[in-house]
Amino acid sequence: MKIALDIDGVLADITVPWVNICNELHNTHLVKQDVKTWNFWKIAGISQDEFFRIFSLAWREWKQVPPTEPDLATRVKGIQRHGQVDIVTGRSEDTIPFVKKWLIHHQISYSHFISVVRGEDKILLDYDVFIDDAPINVVRAANLKKRVILYNQPWNHKVPDSPWVRRATSFEEVLCLVEEIKRRLKE
Ligand SMILES: [Mg+2]
Repeated sequence: MKIALDIDGVLADITVPWVNICNELHNTHLVKQDVKTWNFWKIAGISQDEFFRIFSLAWREWKQVPPTEPDLATRVKGIQRHGQVDIVTGRSEDTIPFVKKWLIHHQISYSHFISVVRGEDKILLDYDVFIDDAPINVVRAANLKKRVILYNQPWNHKVPDSPWVRRATSFEEVLCLVEEIKRRLKE
């Protein structure tokens, strides 16, 4: 089984430093829980370009980027027992070296590092399951009949479950769902 594991919003809680930087630069008073939609630069009153600029700034200070959960290294190893886990991420090239340092620092092992420019293009890649948080990817995956484990975040609460989309609120649940999908693929 081939598993595509996302970084931002799944392994790395990038929204935490993102809102901190946005608050400093734009006098906003945002907290992570305010980020209830994917296009949340509109809530912050900034442009999409500024959103991505802050995103790059946040990754430049990669040591300040917290993991979404404690002990992700062990959690990811658990998933690797069931298949090949690749990091599959949509991002600008300038952030890739920082992300790779972050993965080493948190001892998260993986087979390949795959980067696509447009996040939603990842769904076109050949994987049995995508572990992701982005609503746009989920809609696309369901249309293409690809399986997604949706990692619960405030910006994806409105995404409904479907035969192709299962929600996980923790990596413990991600592991259970990976095991279930593997069983089904064997049937
Ligand atoms: Mg993501």
